[in-house]
Amino acid sequence: MRDCLFCKIAKGEIPSEKVYEDDKVYAFYDINPEAPTHFLVIPKEHIESANDLNDNNIDIVSHIFKVINKLVVELKIADAGYRIINNCGEDGGQTVKHLHFHVIGGRSLKWPPG
Ligand code: AMP
Ligand code: ZN
Repeated sequence: MRDCLFCKIAKGEIPSEKVYEDDKVYAFYDINPEAPTHFLVIPKEHIESANDLNDNNIDIVSHIFKVINKLVVELKIADAGYRIINNCGEDGGQTVKHLHFHVIGGRSLKWPPG
């Protein structure tokens, strides 16, 4: 989608620190990390938010979780644990309107979030 920050990052039109890429997803480090390890996983297809998941595109979510499963081992946070977060909409705190999953780890995280 034109003028979408994460579409541009996925296409390499805006630089990012890549963690992983395949034909369906792109993973990159968050520019404002909340913990020692903080990366984002996004579908290459523009999906605005979790509200826009449906029978035609829901398979991307299982693929994203498979990718996360692999990356947390590679980044050595799997055993200690980590958090996967999807912020949806205004009350959910979503600032970038392209579906993304935060993966945050490398320190003990507080719960509940604010
Ligand atoms: P959310 O608030 O869930 O929409 O998360 C958006 C996230 O994208 C925030 O954690 C930002 O720090 C991150 N972010 C925004 N711009 C960039 C960028 N150019 N490169 C990497 N991460 C970004
Ligand atoms: Zn997009």
